[in-house]
Amino acid sequence: MENYQALREEIVSSAQELTRKGYLMATGGNVSVRASDKSGFAITPSNYDYMKMKPADVCVLDMDLNILAGERKPSVEAGMHCAIYLARPDVNVIVHTHQVYASTLTLIQAPIPALFDEQARFLGRSVEIIPYAPSGTGFLSSTVAKYVRGHNNAFLMQNHGTLVFGTNMERAIHNVEILEKCSLAYLIALCSEKKVTRIPAAIREIALIKLKKDQQRVIKGEPHNSSE
Ligand code: 13P
Ligand code: ZN
Repeated sequence: MENYQALREEIVSSAQELTRKGYLMATGGNVSVRASDKSGFAITPSNYDYMKMKPADVCVLDMDLNILAGERKPSVEAGMHCAIYLARPDVNVIVHTHQVYASTLTLIQAPIPALFDEQARFLGRSVEIIPYAPSGTGFLSSTVAKYVRGHNNAFLMQNHGTLVFGTNMERAIHNVEILEKCSLAYLIALCSEKKVTRIPAAIREIALIKLKKDQQRVIKGEPHNSSE
């Protein structure tokens, strides 16, 4: 596997950015990044303060979950991250959060339909609910692996939190932000008890075609610029 140091530094800086922005709190959630040769991934250690974290605290695992580097215990969700990388060749970064507004939608089991253009463009056709399974279990990993096939980049985990994917770290963090904005807007709209409108289906499908093209480029290893 490539240089662990670069992967570990990326995990620390992004976990701290997500903490400063309020998407990671206490020690809830976890972040991983796939090695570019696809032989494994770096992931946050379990139950450890993000703001104290140093690159040496970050764990590096292969795709059989053997620990290649890191003294600390890896996140209890390492198996779930590994299952997602195996199911989704386009995904290079996974962020699992307990962010508040999206987590609230998991309690009322409200999947988010296509409400905004940027949501469809970057998160996919809708944000679906993954049924409950206890944290850190093989049951959760196998349930998640079934639901994340396809093209969506954000999911709501029932009575738990979120799963957000990106082709790279910058995209993954943007997707976390888009998800929280959509979740809050949707919650307020639902509370109004008025009809919640969606974007036109044709626009949603055009956005999805662009998202799929980005994902194909990443799978083929071509450079891509998802600014359109
Ligand atoms: P870890 O601290 O082990 O990553 O667990 C946090 C979490 O969010 C479990 O679902
Ligand atoms: Zn969690």
